[in-house]
Amino acid sequence: MSFEQLGLSPYIAKSISKLGFLKPFEIQEQTIPHILKGKDVMGIAKTGSGKTLCFVAPLLQKMQHASYEKSRAIKALILVPTRELAVQIEETFVGLQDALRREVKTQAVYGGTSINPQMKNLYGTEILIATPGRLLDLLDHNAFSMDQLEYLVIDEADKMFQLGFGEEMERILKVVPAKKQSILFSATLNEKVDEIKATLKINPIVVEVKKQDI
Ligand code: ADP
Ligand code: MG
Repeated sequence: MSFEQLGLSPYIAKSISKLGFLKPFEIQEQTIPHILKGKDVMGIAKTGSGKTLCFVAPLLQKMQHASYEKSRAIKALILVPTRELAVQIEETFVGLQDALRREVKTQAVYGGTSINPQMKNLYGTEILIATPGRLLDLLDHNAFSMDQLEYLVIDEADKMFQLGFGEEMERILKVVPAKKQSILFSATLNEKVDEIKATLKINPIVVEVKKQDI
C-alpha cells in the first residue's frame, strides 16, 4: 500500500516521502481514506504509531483547493493538550506544504508565553493548533472566530482528561459550530474519550489499531 493509494495526491505523497516515510503505517492506512472523504473519524492507536500524519495530510490536501477570504475566521482547529505537541504538529503542517498549490496559513497557540503576538498573527490563519486554556483566552479576546470552522481535530484526547482539561474542552466544544468534520485521536479509549462523541453529537467511524508498526 502506498500513500497515493490512500487517496493522497502525488504532490503530498512526494512531500511525505521526503520526510523519509516509505509506506503508510496501519493507523494511516485505515483512517486517511475516510478523513479524505469527509467522514467523522475516531482513531485509537498507541503513542508512536503515526497518528499526526493521519489528519495533517488529508487536511492540507483538502484545504489547499479552497480559496478562503482572508479574515479572522479559522477553518480548522486542532486541539492538543500540550505546548510541545502544538509545536510539533505545526512543524508537520509546515513540513508538508512544499508541494502545495498555495500556503495554508498555520499557527500554533499555547500558554506560558505572551498572548499579544499570537493575537496579532491570527488574521488570515486557516489552521489553528491550540491548547485549551489559551484557546479560551483568545476566544474571550475575540481574537478569532469559529463561525466558518470546517474541521475539528482533537489529538491525544485521553491526555486532555489526564491533564485535567475536561472542563475547558467542554466549554470549547459547546461553541464549535455543528456543521463540521470531527476527527478524534487517542492512544487509549476510555469512558471520557468516548463521551466526546456525545458532546459533539457525532457517530464517527471508529478505527482501533492494536499492533505496533515500529
Ligand atoms: P503518534 O501521534 O501516534 O504518537 P507520531 O505521529 O508522533 O505518532 O509519529 C511517531 C513517529 O513516527 C514520528 O517520528 C513520525 O515522524 C514517524 N512516522 C509517522 N508515520 C510514519 C511512516 N509512515 N513511516 C515512517 N515513519 C513514520
Ligand atoms: Mg500524537
